[in-house]
Amino acid sequence: MSEFLPIYQAVRAHYGDGFIPLHAPCFAGEEKAKLVDCIDSTFVSSVGKYVDEFEQRIAEFTDAKYAVAVVNGTMGLMLALRVAGVQAGDLVITQSLTFVATANAISMLGAEPLFLDVDKSTLGLSAGVLEHFLNTECRYRDGILHHIDSGQRIAACVPMHTLGMTGEIRKIAELCQAYGVKLIEDAAESLGSFVQGQHSGTFGDMGVFSFNGNKIITTGGGGVLVTNDATLASQARHLSTTAKIPHAWEFTHDEIAYNLRMPNLNAALGVAQIQQLPVFLTEKRQLAAFYQQAFADAEGFSFVRAPADNASNAWLNALCFEMPEQAQRFLAESNGQGIQTRPLWTPMHQLEIYQSCLRGALPNTEFLAARLVNIPSGVRS
Ligand SMILES: *Cc1c(COP(=O)(O)O)cnc(C)c1O
Repeated sequence: MSEFLPIYQAVRAHYGDGFIPLHAPCFAGEEKAKLVDCIDSTFVSSVGKYVDEFEQRIAEFTDAKYAVAVVNGTMGLMLALRVAGVQAGDLVITQSLTFVATANAISMLGAEPLFLDVDKSTLGLSAGVLEHFLNTECRYRDGILHHIDSGQRIAACVPMHTLGMTGEIRKIAELCQAYGVKLIEDAAESLGSFVQGQHSGTFGDMGVFSFNGNKIITTGGGGVLVTNDATLASQARHLSTTAKIPHAWEFTHDEIAYNLRMPNLNAALGVAQIQQLPVFLTEKRQLAAFYQQAFADAEGFSFVRAPADNASNAWLNALCFEMPEQAQRFLAESNGQGIQTRPLWTPMHQLEIYQSCLRGALPNTEFLAARLVNIPSGVRS
């Protein structure tokens, strides 16, 4: 008998027999009707009513003043960093325990990620580690915070809300404010996650969500940048649309910029999806509660719980195995049985492309990356 039988039983009790994906999108709403309407309108590209409506609905849901819809989360992060003033040669603080897009967005601007550790309980950037770093390894030169050893400017901090958990974002926001460091939340995984009623992505200068096919809602591919700052919002919008000066027929551009606007077709899908977000959130939180109860007395592993003050969206559920070898055995066995599971990402500092980046000690990152496994978490259609 498999040592992991209780896990398979819980997953199958919820999802039934057959192949169970880690996370499949659910199109139970007006997706097809809105896509057909969008096609019939001929406005399928980057101008159209669905883009405006989607932005409005995201702003309402997150209670952010402004939302700028873009082609994907990665480009949303890059755009946010650019608008925040990140330049070539700068350092941007982030976590090593993240999806590669976070570090790539920083690198695209010629800046360098600097990796700090996460907390074991929140899987998010450790406020204590960040504070110690800012306190002991940085100093002001001409009023601007610099990293003492490298002499590079600390341009921004990008914490990531792992699996929908918002970690110590309030404390991190206070630190960034105190040290004059721009705060951009990689909220790609945390649409629907709140901290004491405040939506993730709205604690700093900007936040970015992703609507890739595996996220809590999808636009096929897409992302959105949210902010409460009118200037940042209009700069982001301007740079995402080739920096064209609005005019009925003339083409004048005042910066070398990007084409990053979300197409209307994708936004039509997004409008249909966001209508179902409250239902998805309820089902996901129920599933997390079910797993938590099912694994309460488990031996050899534990269910990863969001901290109590953290209304997580429960995007992806995870188990933490005591021994890395168990996690490896479970990954091989569960996937072999048609239950899709996967580990967290290889930490950034262990990727060849980022191994030479500056970093702090990363014991929790390495501990978690070797032991955490995501289990099926999608909404049943
Ligand atoms: C999904 C994701 C992104 C952005 O993904 P896109 O596929 O570009 O939309 C960025 N960061 C994290 C942590 C993610 O999970």
